[in-house]
Amino acid sequence: MSRFLSTGLAALIPYTPGEQPDTHRWIKLNTNENPYPPSPKVAEALATLYGEQGGDGEKKYPDPITWDGVKAIAGYYGLDETMVIMGNGSDEILAFSYMAYGEKIVFPEISYGFYPVFAQLFQCSSRAVPLTKKFKIRPEDYYNAEGTVLIANPNAPTGRALPLEDIEGILRNNRDNVVIIDEAYIDFGGESCVPLIKRYDNLLVVQTFSKSRSLAGMRIGMAMGNRQMIEDLNRIKFSFNPYNLSRSAILAAKISIEDKLYFREITRRIIGTRNTFASAMRDLGCHVIPSEANFVLVNEGAAYHEFLRERGILVRYFGKGTLVDYVRITIGTPEDMEKVIEATFEWKKERREGEVK
Ligand SMILES: *Cc1c(COP(=O)(O)O)cnc(C)c1O
Repeated sequence: MSRFLSTGLAALIPYTPGEQPDTHRWIKLNTNENPYPPSPKVAEALATLYGEQGGDGEKKYPDPITWDGVKAIAGYYGLDETMVIMGNGSDEILAFSYMAYGEKIVFPEISYGFYPVFAQLFQCSSRAVPLTKKFKIRPEDYYNAEGTVLIANPNAPTGRALPLEDIEGILRNNRDNVVIIDEAYIDFGGESCVPLIKRYDNLLVVQTFSKSRSLAGMRIGMAMGNRQMIEDLNRIKFSFNPYNLSRSAILAAKISIEDKLYFREITRRIIGTRNTFASAMRDLGCHVIPSEANFVLVNEGAAYHEFLRERGILVRYFGKGTLVDYVRITIGTPEDMEKVIEATFEWKKERREGEVK
């Protein structure tokens, strides 16, 4: 760090993203990306943006209101367009939310690694609430919070989801606090709380196109909430980066939302693969946390992570605290998961033989 860095930032510990190797040799199951391509209609639409029929590509500034995307999302969820904002990934939306409502913020101790980083960056006072031994979030722990509540549902990296009644309990017991529900993984089995927006003016729902919509590289996220809250976030966006989504990203978002059939098919497939994979792993003697997401948390630690790595399989190891004996495995194609199962079979066999000796 240079001697010029603002003093407030000297102690900041940035988020560590999962490894992004630039070769295809790996079975890459470490950052919760979708194994399937986005809707083929997205590629067709992008081709016209750059196409011979006079497409301008990214030559001009994009629409700062991202209207086409907002309209598609609002239509999909049956909301008014004033209740939707798009971000450059949901990370940007979360950053706006911290700036708007993060003076004091409460989130689960085990959750998305970015939450404490944002708290530091934006100098918020934050409190991390422990989970139960079984990695469950206890809704009552968030009642009458002293500040904004931020919960990922399903939670990451546990995969556990809260039912809608529990989310509603948290909302009802925080009438004067903002409650942010990060639904990055909601399309893999959980129940979205978007319908509650009309009844709770303190609810902000954050979602992303990175996981269920196979567009992680496009950087598309969104928030949905009552009109006044969306105005708050737009106030920040237009004071920071009005052109926060490229033309390509706005177009991709619109087309992806419109292709409901394709979306349903790939999410259904991933859910099926996850359930088959989790039970195969349990049959091998692994402890797998029940997941409603496109990943599972498995009770095997550093040595297992290394064992898989040597076999060309990349999974996420957090390597500290409560998660020291766990790895998070993204759900890929059935073929990918078969490789993990084979490797795990070998792993367990070596352990058993080691014990006999
Ligand atoms: C992946 C993820 C995000 C961020 O996704 P973007 O790619 O920035 O849209 C946000 N929250 C959780 C819990 C995530 O896992």
